Parts: sequence; structure tokens; C-alpha cells
Amino acid sequence: MNYYSTTDLRHKATLEQAVIKGLAPDGGLYMPQKVPVLPAAFLRNMGEMTLQEVAYAIASYALQGDVPTDVLHDIVFDAFDFDIPLVKTPGGHYVLELFHGPTMAFKDVGTRFMARLLDYYRTRHPEWSTLNVLVPTSGDTGSAVANSFHKMPGVNVYVLFPRGAVGKIQKVQFATLGGNVTAIEVNGTFDDCKSLVEEAFMDAELNGEMRLTSAMSINYARIVPQMVYYFWAYAQLVKRKEDVSGGLVFAVPCSNLGNLSSGLMAQAMGLPVKRFISVENQNNIFYNYVKTGVFRPKPTQYSIAPALDAGCPNNFGRILDLLGSYDNVCRHIHAYSYDDNQIIETIMRTYDDEGYLLDPHSAVAYRAMAEDLKPGETGVALATAHPAKLKHLMENIIEEPVLLPSQLAQFLDGELRVKKIPNGFTAFKRLLLSNR
Ligand SMILES: *Cc1c(COP(=O)(O)O)cnc(C)c1O
Repeated sequence: MNYYSTTDLRHKATLEQAVIKGLAPDGGLYMPQKVPVLPAAFLRNMGEMTLQEVAYAIASYALQGDVPTDVLHDIVFDAFDFDIPLVKTPGGHYVLELFHGPTMAFKDVGTRFMARLLDYYRTRHPEWSTLNVLVPTSGDTGSAVANSFHKMPGVNVYVLFPRGAVGKIQKVQFATLGGNVTAIEVNGTFDDCKSLVEEAFMDAELNGEMRLTSAMSINYARIVPQMVYYFWAYAQLVKRKEDVSGGLVFAVPCSNLGNLSSGLMAQAMGLPVKRFISVENQNNIFYNYVKTGVFRPKPTQYSIAPALDAGCPNNFGRILDLLGSYDNVCRHIHAYSYDDNQIIETIMRTYDDEGYLLDPHSAVAYRAMAEDLKPGETGVALATAHPAKLKHLMENIIEEPVLLPSQLAQFLDGELRVKKIPNGFTAFKRLLLSNR
């Protein structure tokens, strides 16, 4: 199948080119020429399938033979080796817990699949030099990408993070790995880290010397696996004989809109979704777009839900491409936005009333779902991070200890290995070149 660019419909690329490049040459996002629609029988029988079986089926349909079946089977079964439970809270609301992977954030799903797919392409091209993955992070992306590629031969990962803005538990998840993972502390903001990476991709000398690739959420290899859990939520509802005839609604905590793009693609493939709820923090660029029709990026503001701190949602072009018009966006998506006080209030209320602990990212989804759902509808809030990832913040909010799961605790024993650079491209470029 061919992939086009959202800003140049005549541009064509193979899946391999789309995944290696990330962005199309004109800066557009890659989209498949065709979104296949699943047979109705598939949806009916999904209640009998395991997560890995659903994942393999969805990836096979979505990729239309672009990856050999045996290879895709191994990639999917290996990437989806953790549970994604649909939990019913004591208040009777559904929460899809996407945080049981190695770094306990939903990004594990996309990055684990992407890393394995890139590894397959690498082994098909023995002539390739080392692949260098550059990733700016405010916490979750860096740890998910670093852990997905850690120890993979022929790949180096560079994680850029803003000084003083990434919590300790987040930082140790990428900065203690060593080996092929280099953690770079930039004396600047998250937006500065993003700019450094963008500049690297445009630097002719650097690209002549090194093979650079981005693992950001614009990469189509992250969009595909994220479709899986929307189907998996539905499969679990079917399994429980839940009546979803009143309409299925997903509430998604949004930043760069990759997760929401995946949901819309799942819907286009035939998943019966009545509507999506997009939820942002005070970085509410998409919310403002839905309310006014104007898309206006702004500088990023820090919040207590750091993974939602994006002032320019990268996947916006995909949403427009999928839905075609502003009116259609408004028909498919209800938008919400909450500030830090509302997030704290939601965490406290849900914990006090229901005994269920939401992390700040999941809390926005949970709250918007409760506000938006109509009688008879079935709502599923996506919980994108484990509360212990922001342990100290959570403990301050609920005034109780929050236990650190062993998979997070193990990182705290490691030694921090951080390279510090000033906020300037020269220093970053020198570091990359010296590491070759
Ligand atoms: C990245 C992230 C999000 C936002 O996902 P997008 O695809 O960028 O919209 C939400 N929650 C958590 C915990 C994340 O790490």
C-alpha cells in the first residue's frame, strides 16, 4: 500500500519510507491511501480473542500486507506482552488502563511496536549505518522510546529533556539505562528540546554524516498499534455482554493528538464509536480549535499533567485529514480542557468517593467523560499513566503514600548518566558527531 502526505496528496511513500522518515519531505504527516473496513463478523467474534490476537488482526488489516505475516506476527506478539485491562470503577465507569507496560505509560504500546518494526527494516538493510533516534521529552516519551530501543543493536537513542522540568521517577527511566541510550539535559524548555531536534533533521552536514530518525508521535508506526486498544476495549465489553447499543464514547487525554488520531482510525476501520471526547489541560489548542474553528499554537505552559503540555499538537493534520472538515470534527469530537486545580479536585474526589486513584492525565479523561456522557451511552476513559509515575505529586494530593510498582522501583537503583548541554544547536550537534 502507498502512503501520502497530508499536505501533498500526490506524494507517495512505502510503509518503510514513511516509518524511517517520520515526516514527509514537505512536513506533512503520512496517511494510508486506503483505510480498510473490517468484516462485521470480526467485530462479533472479538469477544473470543486475546489481546495479542486482536492486535495481530488489526495490524494485519491496517497494514495490508506491507509487512510479511510471520514478521508482523512476531512484532505484535512481542510488543503486546502486557495486559490492558478494562476496569469498572466502583462508580460504574469504565477505565481502560493503558499503563501496565515497562514504563507504565500508554506510550509503551506505540514505541514498542515501532522499535520492533524499525529493527526489522534495519536487518533487511545490512548496508545501513547506525540508526540514530532523536527524541525530545517532557517525561513519558523519552522513557518509553529509550526502553523500547534499549540494547537494540545498530540503534542509538538520544533523549533530550528540559532542565528541572522532568520528575525524578520519570528521569531515571531513561537516564539510568546507558549503553545505546544517551540522556541529554538541555538548559532550556521542552519547546527548546523540540527545536533542537527539528534543527538536527534540517542540518545538511549532520544528515550527511549520520542516519537520523524521529520516534515522535507523528510516526505512523506509533499510530497503528494504538488503534488496537480501542478494539480491545470493545472486545472486553462484548465479552462481558455489556449493552453498548446506546453508543460507545471514548474520552482521550490529548497532547499531540496521536492517541486521538488512532481512535479515529479505529472508527474509520469499522469500530462502532458514537463520539470521542478530547481532553486537554491548560495547553488547550485543540479545545480552542473546536470552540472557534481557529487552530492557533501557543508556547507550552507547564502543568501537573506534564505529558499533556504541548503548545502545538503535531497530529492535528491527521485529525483534519481523517474528518475532512471543521464541521465534521465538531460532530465526532466533544472537546474539554481543565486547569491544575480541576485536575487535583478530580483526583481527590474520585479517590475519596470511589477508592480509585487516577493519575493527572487519566483524571482529565475521567472527568470529561462523566460530564459529557448522556443516559444510555457507554463511556470508556483512557488511563494513560500509572499514578506512581508522579508519586510525589500524587502523595501531596491524596496525603497518603503511593506504592511504587517494582518495574518503576528498579530504575531508582540505577546510576544517573546525564550529558548537560546549553540551549544551542552547536553544542547538540557537536555531541551527536562526537558520539558516532
Ligand atoms: C503522551 C501522553 C498523552 C498524550 O498523548 P498524545 O498522543 O500526544 O495526544 C497523554 N497521557 C500520557 C500519560 C502521555 O504520556
